[in-house]
Amino acid sequence: MKTAVFCDFDGTIARRDIGYHLFHHFSGGRNDELVPRWKSGQLTTRDCLLQEAAMVTATPREIYRFLDGFELNRGFAEFVQLCQSQKTDLIVTSDGLEFYIRYVLKRHGISGLLVLANVGKFHGGGLTVEFPYDNKSCDRCGNCKGERIREYRSGNTSTRIVFVGDGYSDACATGEADLIFAKKDLVEYCRENNIGFVEYDDFFDVARHMIEQGYLTARGLKQANGANQ
Ligand SMILES: [Mg+2]
Ligand SMILES: [Zn+2]
Repeated sequence: MKTAVFCDFDGTIARRDIGYHLFHHFSGGRNDELVPRWKSGQLTTRDCLLQEAAMVTATPREIYRFLDGFELNRGFAEFVQLCQSQKTDLIVTSDGLEFYIRYVLKRHGISGLLVLANVGKFHGGGLTVEFPYDNKSCDRCGNCKGERIREYRSGNTSTRIVFVGDGYSDACATGEADLIFAKKDLVEYCRENNIGFVEYDDFFDVARHMIEQGYLTARGLKQANGANQ
């Protein structure tokens, strides 16, 4: 049976939440008043992102230089190789912005992944946000990960879906995946809602568990096992 992996970006592939730090840095911290309102559900992601983007003052050069300071989570590059060598689709689903995801992945030598995210554009010394994805049954998310998984499933009916995430923007995905890897806020969310999950720290953990459970084979795992093969 085929497997597809849907993976959050901020705090999951990237070690830190780049979207949050980007808005925080270039708004002079003014976005902090919005975050608790978003977490509690008072503010939709779309409204939150639009308001955060409106607070940003920065040139593209300043933004890209800022992005150079962020690292990926351990084992992600090896995990990409493992999935690609086994023809397992690995899809980045984010409620952040596509440009920084692509930039940071590329800077770390990773290409060829499908990235589904909101669109941020440089405009007049700041940022604007657009939402290319239609969410039929969700009015909370900008780019609803649950809906993206459902769309994928409709064309891949016998594929097992794995989801890897770390936060509240992953909530809708948890109802659609067969196997969930969670950390941080997503652990709390899964516990509160009686959703089964596997706790992970890095992508070596994810690979190891997927192999143990038969979602991937150990073929091509050399580097994912650590330094000495
Ligand atoms: Mg996240
Ligand atoms: Zn949603």
